[in-house]
Order: sequence, then structure tokens, then C-alpha cells
Amino acid sequence: MEIIRQCGKLLEFEKRFPNGKMVERISISDKIIRFKAILSRDNGGIGVFQCYRVQQSDVLGPYKGGTRLHPSVSMNEVKALATLMSLKTALVNVPFGGGKGGICVDPKALSEKELERLVRKYTNRIKDDLGPDEDIPAPDVNSGPREMAWIYDEYRKYSESARGVVTGKPLELGGSLGRIQATGFGVALVTERLCYDKKLVNPAISIEGFGNVGQYAALKLFEMGFKIVAVSDSRGCVVNQVGLNISDLLAFKREKGRLSGFPGGKPAERIIEVPVEVHIPCALGHSINRDNVDSIPSGLKIVVEGANAPVSSHAENVLIDRGVILAPDILANAGGVIVSYYEWVQNREGLYWSEDEVLGKMTEKMNAAYENVVSYASEKKIALRQAAYCLAMDKIARAIGFRGAQ
Ligand code: GLU
Repeated sequence: MEIIRQCGKLLEFEKRFPNGKMVERISISDKIIRFKAILSRDNGGIGVFQCYRVQQSDVLGPYKGGTRLHPSVSMNEVKALATLMSLKTALVNVPFGGGKGGICVDPKALSEKELERLVRKYTNRIKDDLGPDEDIPAPDVNSGPREMAWIYDEYRKYSESARGVVTGKPLELGGSLGRIQATGFGVALVTERLCYDKKLVNPAISIEGFGNVGQYAALKLFEMGFKIVAVSDSRGCVVNQVGLNISDLLAFKREKGRLSGFPGGKPAERIIEVPVEVHIPCALGHSINRDNVDSIPSGLKIVVEGANAPVSSHAENVLIDRGVILAPDILANAGGVIVSYYEWVQNREGLYWSEDEVLGKMTEKMNAAYENVVSYASEKKIALRQAAYCLAMDKIARAIGFRGAQ
């Protein structure tokens, strides 16, 4: 990744680590697991699904990162997302490395039983590489507590009870209160702080994606009194210039499974074209790209990356030229992995905390990371993304340096 090389220069790795391999050491994955899972379908046929788990870095602790279920999953995407996890855990100061998994599948095209068989096959193939001190999966796009329970149960068949092998589990299996809301709440917190710092009063906000992250980001911002004028899911977009009632919208989405037809707003073609000051992409990678960046109306001031890598590098350059500030994914959506860390701690201790305690601790960590990134960016006169990468890379590099020659 170009930005890792750039930040290596800013951090003067050539001087500090004269063997010249630090950027490579940070950016190259430790282990790549790739295989095909063969699934017997309910109708008697078979399905073949490409599966991945990338263990990117364990310099700061066990590999940590979600498992994505989506037809666009590819090796390169999983590798890039695993690198983002290594940087994210370093930035927000949780004692983990980075990893990511994925299955190239449209989960909606499978029955629940088929999906369970597939997730179990996947887990079974990688079980020797997983463990609470080894590699700890979590939810990601299209996976949640149900899938994490299957991963836990499959792993458990072959190991001593080890609840910390996977996070984002149902509460009954040792999940943490607050984990479901964590990513979205963290996104809301970063949005609130950035709006305050940039003196944006009552900004119009749009949120792309109404899955776990988008829903809880919207709810928290709504509760904070922000005006959310547009929200979209994969099937449509609803707009209300006065502000959408997010509680009603959530109830509608939960009942109907879609946003379109919501009586408290009007339909719109593309969320990206709705004029706002703050846009929060919470869907898939590169949803802001070369093809649509020029259709974003002027007036946009802030983009908060709820999703991982939602802005392509071309689009980012265009937005920066326009003076838009981007809050990078490794900061903005780190609430999820922070609470995953608390889940793992609670599992190890066997002592469980209240929701307020969990979210309070998460808020402290998010605030600390936000302040570090903002002050480093202003000290070095660099963008927030560069600042976040530099802080994360510096931490990993120092840890590698202390470990010395191997
Ligand atoms: N998939 C989430 C992320 O990208 C959560 C990872 C975790 O909790 O380990 O940050």
C-alpha cells in the first residue's frame, strides 16, 4: 500500500531502522490461508466457495479481525483489510495484531442450514490456526452473533472451553454487552468530535448503509440531536431535509427488511448526490470512487469512514483537493475491535461488566485515539489518515525494534 510507504518516509524508517526492511515487515502478511469449501446443498447439489484467512501481524498480540461473507471477497481485499486491522489495533491501543477472514458467498442465497454448514466447514479447516492467544475472528460484513456462535461451537469440538477464541458472540455464549452497538457508537463519537472541532453547527448528515454499523451510528447521532437527512441500504435511499426520525426508521427497517417505502421520507436515487455537510459511508469498500466522486455536491465538509476503506485513493485525492476532511476507518470504526478486546478480557476473567462500563471504557479509548490522531496531524501538518497510519506504524515498528534480531 502506497500510504504505508509514504508514512515510512515520514517516520524516517530508513534512518531509524537502517536495514531498510521496516515498511516491508509491517506491510507483508505473516500467513495466508486459502482453500475451497465444498458444501452439500439442501437440494442435493453441491456448492464451491473460496475461503480465506489472512494472519497479517502478531507483533502486538494475537491476530484479530472479522470474517466477511460477501460475493466480492477476494484475496487482495482480505489482505488489505487484515493490514487495516493491524494498524487499527495498534492505533487504539488494544493488545492484538491484525487478521481478516472471508468467504466468497452471497449468504442470502443460502438457507440458514447451508450457511451454518459452510461456516462450520470454514472454521474446521482453520481451527488449528485459531485460538484465544493465536487468532481471534469476529463479525464483519454479513456476519454477526449467529455466525460467531457457530465458529465458537465448531472450534470447541476440538479444544478445551475457550470462549475468547472468537468475539461478537451472543451474550449467552460469553458475548459482551455493548458489542453490537460498539462500532456504530464509535463512529458517532468521532463524527460528533470532528463536527465540534470544525465548528459545524447542526450539519446535515447522510449515512450510506443501514446494517449493524450504519444503524447504530444513525441511532446514536439521532439521540445526540444531529440531523440525519438521508440514509440508504442496498435497495434504496430515503431523504428528509428536516431530519429523519431514526427510531421510526429503525422500527420500519426491522419490520420490513428495507428502507424504501418509509413514510417519514422521500425516495432518492443515489445517496451520494444528496447535499450534506457530513457523509458517513458504512457499506462496502470503495463506495466513493472514480465514477461517483464528481457527483458529490459541493458543501461536503467531512467524511467519516464507518466502513473499512470506503473511499478509493483517486476519490480521496479529489475530496482532499476540495478541502474535505476524512476521518479514517482505522480510527472511526475502531469501537468494534475495542469492545471485542473487552469481550476477550471478560471471557478470560469470567467476570462480566455492565453495558455502561463497557461503552464507557470504549469511549475513553476512542477519545484518546482521536486526540492523538488530531494533535499529531496538526503538529506534522498532515491529513488525519496519514497521522493515524504514522502513529500505528510507529508503535508496531518500536515493538519490532525492542524484540531485536531474530
Ligand atoms: N470487523 C470489525 C473491524 O473491521 C471488527 C473486528 C474485531 O472485532 O475483531 O474492525
